[in-house]
Amino acid sequence: MPKEGIDIPEFTQSDKNRLIKMKQESPIKTVKCLMDDYKLSHHESKYITKHINETYGKCNRCNFDKLDRENLICPKCGALNLNWITDDTD
Ligand SMILES: [Zn+2]
Repeated sequence: MPKEGIDIPEFTQSDKNRLIKMKQESPIKTVKCLMDDYKLSHHESKYITKHINETYGKCNRCNFDKLDRENLICPKCGALNLNWITDDTD
């Protein structure tokens, strides 16, 4: 559970695919999208954007790259990783 007290909404698979792609293009755009399309606060949107993993399995903060499920704490550095599994493999 995120220690900063933010509830991560349940995103559908297509939301996850879309948000990961969007973050790769522009984290700022992703924050705005979360606020506009998902009616989240600025604080929540920033938090979620920060913790979206652009590459599945790779920690957002350190070089650990063996994260094997969604929404977990990196065993190496303790950072939250949403680590969404996407079905878009190409
Ligand atoms: Zn880490």
